[in-house]
Amino acid sequence: MDLEKTLLRKVGEGIARFKMIRDGDRIAVAVSGGKDSVTMLDALLLLQKRAPIKFSICAFTVEQGKFLAPVEAVGEYIRSIGVEWTYFTDNPSLRLLEEQPDHGCDMCSRFRRRAVYQIASGLGANVIAFGHTADDFCESLLRNIMYTGRMSALPAITWSKAKDFRLIRPLVYVNEETTKAWVAAKGMPIVPCGCSLRTGTVRRGIRETIAEWERETPYLRENIMTAMGNINHGRLLDTRYLDLDGEPEEPETIVTGSPLLPILVNA
Ligand code: SF4
Repeated sequence: MDLEKTLLRKVGEGIARFKMIRDGDRIAVAVSGGKDSVTMLDALLLLQKRAPIKFSICAFTVEQGKFLAPVEAVGEYIRSIGVEWTYFTDNPSLRLLEEQPDHGCDMCSRFRRRAVYQIASGLGANVIAFGHTADDFCESLLRNIMYTGRMSALPAITWSKAKDFRLIRPLVYVNEETTKAWVAAKGMPIVPCGCSLRTGTVRRGIRETIAEWERETPYLRENIMTAMGNINHGRLLDTRYLDLDGEPEEPETIVTGSPLLPILVNA
């Protein structure tokens, strides 16, 4: 199957399943400078042309002082394909970097979130799209299970606290081989963040382990993704979801493979 079909089928599957995009939406695409978010922007533009509903797209990038090269190269590419691109320097993040160079992801993402809402509001957007991929969902699930004692990953769709923005992750079913191949095929500029070079992190360790397991067990990530949509509460230990009073048990159902869902494109 060609790359465009694969990408659009997977993005369409995520959008349709989680009702991410609705008629009249204005979507602000968070472009990080990496391969995933520019691929998402391209996919949304292609789907916009085919979708039976109308929605508009703009893009933005938050400068937190961590890019390894000027991110304007990515912005120029975005403008060259006819999309409005906003480059926002977040001064509180720059101060944080100066004062606490070893700050963790929690603090960094809190600062970024505040900036993102401010930008999206200025752009008149009601939806913010983030470029997390299936690999991010798998890594996040395993990291939370092993390091925080929670069975949780990332939300494919959620809302900001004040409910003024719908937050979506249209690459939920797209893996990083696809985004890598897409940017290579299109010759898109990529400006990495300094954090991407960090070694020995928990995130990187989990990704390497998944890749190693997948050499032995093909489709491992796909199975993890399927499992996240196929929860058997009765076989877990959260008493909020258990029938502790002995009501007759629901017959066990086993679902295999990826869900087939109506999608926005013809695969
Ligand atoms: S990986 Fe780097 S850029 Fe990303 S949240 Fe953590 S500190 Fe911030």
